[in-house]
Amino acid sequence: MVTPMPFHRAAAAAIDSDNWIRTEVLVLNASYEALTEISADRAVVLLITDAAETVVERAPHFPIRSQHTEIALPETIRLRRYVYLEHRMLVHDESRATLAGVLRRDEHRCGYCTGWAGTVDHILPRSRGGPNTWSNLIAACSDCNTRKADRTPAEAGMRLLWDPKAPNDLARAQRQVWKRLATAHTAT
Ligand SMILES: [Zn+2]
Repeated sequence: MVTPMPFHRAAAAAIDSDNWIRTEVLVLNASYEALTEISADRAVVLLITDAAETVVERAPHFPIRSQHTEIALPETIRLRRYVYLEHRMLVHDESRATLAGVLRRDEHRCGYCTGWAGTVDHILPRSRGGPNTWSNLIAACSDCNTRKADRTPAEAGMRLLWDPKAPNDLARAQRQVWKRLATAHTAT
């Protein structure tokens, strides 16, 4: 019986019958490109339905018994059929960011003074080719934004209080990938 579980980071603890389901398995496309990580219970479903094959077994060997078969807990699996994924599903620092997304990520705190922020600053100014990416945008209050103007933080003598990154949307990306995999493999 396979129960869908929320995603968790694999713990460093030894694998046992209670926690194997929370280990993560790397999924490769049929072309051997890495797609994402999914929880082990979902990886096992893909193996049992023959939608995927094991590329690397987890060491030490950990057997999972299901009805008539026994399979080894995998570390990496490969899909038998190529699955096309849109690039936008994969969120990373160089992905395009939106104004609303940056304000939400920074919880409306100014990256220069922690005051309430209603605007977004281009760290490398737009006038010098600064892109609309997660790592180049930070929430800023209008005072700091005006003071910084068309300068880098160093030129303006201002210090960034944290390093802006893409929001941690990994769990959402994993759910989308899983949904896509599930529909691709039941469509046949
Ligand atoms: Zn400020």
